[in-house]
Amino acid sequence: MSVPSINTLCVQAGYKPGNGEPRQIPIIQSTTFKYDTAAGMGALFDLEAEGYFYSRLQNPTCDHVAAKIAALEGGTAGMLTSSGQAANFFALFNICNAGDHIVSSSSIYGGTFNLISVTMAKMGITATFVDPDCSDEELDAAFRPNTRAVFGETIANPALTVLDIERFAAAAHRHGVPLIVDNTFPTPVGCRPIEWGADIVTHSTTKYMDGHGDCVGGAIVDGGHFDWMAHADKFPGLTTPDESYHGITYAERFGMGGAFITKATAQLMRDFGCVQSPINAYMLNLGLESLHVRMARHCENGQAVAEFLAQHPKVAYVDYCGLPGDKYHERAQKYLPNGSCGVVSFGVKGGREAAAAFMEHLRLAAIETHVADARTCCLHPASTTHRQMNDAQLAAAGVRPDLVRMSCGLEDKADLIADIAQALDKI
Ligand SMILES: *Cc1c(COP(=O)(O)O)cnc(C)c1O
Repeated sequence: MSVPSINTLCVQAGYKPGNGEPRQIPIIQSTTFKYDTAAGMGALFDLEAEGYFYSRLQNPTCDHVAAKIAALEGGTAGMLTSSGQAANFFALFNICNAGDHIVSSSSIYGGTFNLISVTMAKMGITATFVDPDCSDEELDAAFRPNTRAVFGETIANPALTVLDIERFAAAAHRHGVPLIVDNTFPTPVGCRPIEWGADIVTHSTTKYMDGHGDCVGGAIVDGGHFDWMAHADKFPGLTTPDESYHGITYAERFGMGGAFITKATAQLMRDFGCVQSPINAYMLNLGLESLHVRMARHCENGQAVAEFLAQHPKVAYVDYCGLPGDKYHERAQKYLPNGSCGVVSFGVKGGREAAAAFMEHLRLAAIETHVADARTCCLHPASTTHRQMNDAQLAAAGVRPDLVRMSCGLEDKADLIADIAQALDKI
């Protein structure tokens, strides 16, 4: 059989039951696993044998779902984490030590910006943020001898900028480090960054992958293409013996395809414990089974809403890469030919007050700090997440006072447009 399409992988990858076994992934809601001998369990601790011993490190339900996400991204190994925040922290901290440096796109999720610029700085890991549309010279100038990773988001939350993955991957590789891409917004249905040169892909599975607003979670996938041994001096954690793990050298023992995820599991999950629970992984998988069907509808609704807003006299501007006039339209044609996502950002004429009033008149769309849910929701950053800022401070943070971020759900697009139209009529 030829390689199955992404649609088939969404439904079936990651779990193949044997004869008489459950058709659905079993929920192994057990912290621990029983062994007949201490020696048998010892082999597991030494990573000599495959098997489970404690769910903080690995659990069969979580592993099936991680294997599905790895298959969707075209990677060689994957793991689940308790949240998207944990996924991005693990992906970076797995290869960055105190004294190291990260080059990151400045257009990223606020939580990740805090993680890198404040919390990881406290650990002695510094960062240089670059405009995702900077020149190659500016990008090269951001690197230092101690740079260990480049980070960006395929479609940034909330700015909706589209990353030029090939260009960022080429720059990372010129400097001998991997590119880590947070692919939360398009999901692998819309874009597979590894195919464009990214080395590691992360997700907040809380968003479209789960898709129903019920479980916080994250995932990391390794593309298996980055040669750690070729840059051994930069990545001693992977290329020299781990004395905290019986002297294993991950890159030697598990190769390019397995070293990164094995180290993140054996070391970071062991010590930080940001695990996803088996029941949450089970529910995440229910979301993944329909991801390809749902993403098409999210994109269709996002496109219809963006087109309606773009021609409305009370709307100041619309950011959506599916619109022909959008700054990122051309790049999106390359990286996101089948649609981007359901999130649309726009400005309501009349500024901060008009935007808040517009949202209060919505009937279907709920006001929430969330995106990528089956139900349409919206957020006015200036009066919620960024409410402590005045208009000048908002401008410096790249958040316009009139900006509304609307996450189009799976409802009928005609109903969504009618709801938006009546709310705009009332202001
Ligand atoms: C939400 C989000 C995160 C953080 O994920 P959590 O699951 O909320 O921890 C990271 N990156 C992006 C792009 C996000 O949208």
